Amino acid sequence: MSNPNILILGAPGAGKGTQSSNIVEVFGVEHVTTGDALRANKDMDISHLDTEYDTPRAYMDAGELVPDEVVNEIVKTALDEADGYVLDGYPRNLAQAEYLDEITDLDVVLYLDVDKDELVDRLTGRRVCDECGANYHVEFNPPAEEGVCDECGGELIQRDDDTEETVRERINVYEENTEPVIEHFEEEGELARIDGEQTPDEVWDDVRDTVESEA
Ligand code: ADP
Ligand code: ADP
Ligand code: ZN
Repeated sequence: MSNPNILILGAPGAGKGTQSSNIVEVFGVEHVTTGDALRANKDMDISHLDTEYDTPRAYMDAGELVPDEVVNEIVKTALDEADGYVLDGYPRNLAQAEYLDEITDLDVVLYLDVDKDELVDRLTGRRVCDECGANYHVEFNPPAEEGVCDECGGELIQRDDDTEETVRERINVYEENTEPVIEHFEEEGELARIDGEQTPDEVWDDVRDTVESEA
C-alpha cells in the first residue's frame, strides 16, 4: 500500500507543525508546508502578478495571505513529487480548497480544534530552530537548554510574524478566509475533529489513532 495523503487543518498556532513532525516520523510521508516553502522564498519577485505587494515577505509580515497563484504552484509541485504527504498550512481559502480537490485525493482530513484565546499565547511564545525547523514553546514545550535546539543544537529564534499585533491579524484572516474551508470539509463528512487543547502527547495519540483507522 502506498503512503497516506493527509491534510492537517487548524488555526495558526493550533499545533499543525508540531503534529506534522510526528506524522512524518511514524508514517514516513513528506511534510508539505506552504509556510516553510514561502519563508524559504520570501524575497521572490512576484511583481508580475500586479497584486498588493511585490514579495511573499510583505504579505507574511502583514499577516495576510500570499496570492493563490504563488501558493497553488508550490503545492502542486510538492504534491506531485511526494509519495504520501502531510499537507500543513494549505488550503487557507475556498479557492485553494477547490484547487486542491482538482490535483489530489486525500485519505485523511484532520482538524486540530483549539480555542482562539489560547492561540495568542501559543504563537507569541513559539520558538523555532534556525537550523532544522523544530518547534518549541517557552512555557508549554521548552527545550532542555534555553535558546538551544534539543534535536540539533541550533539556535532557537522567534519568527518575524509571531508578534502580538501580527498574530491578531493572522487570526482575523483565519476567521474570514479559512474557517469556511473547515466548514467545507465538515459538510463533505471528511473531517476528523481532534481536541487540540490536550497536551502535545495526548493530541498525538488521537492523531495517530485517526490516521491508522482512516488511511
Ligand atoms: P501551527 O503549525 O498550527 O501554527 P505549531 O505546531 O507551530 O502550530 O504550535 C504553535 C506553538 O504552540 C508552538 O510554540 C508549539 O510548541 C506550541 N504547541 C503545540 N502543540 C501544543 C499543545 N498541544 N499544547 C500547548 N502548546 C502547544
Ligand atoms: P501559521 O501556521 O503559524 O499560521 P504558516 O507558517 O502556515 O503559519 O504561515 C505563515 C504565513 O505564510 C501566513 O501568515 C501567510 O502570509 C503565508 N501563507 C502560508 N500558507 C499560505 C497559504 N496557503 N495561502 C496564502 N498564504 C499563506
Ligand atoms: Zn534544530
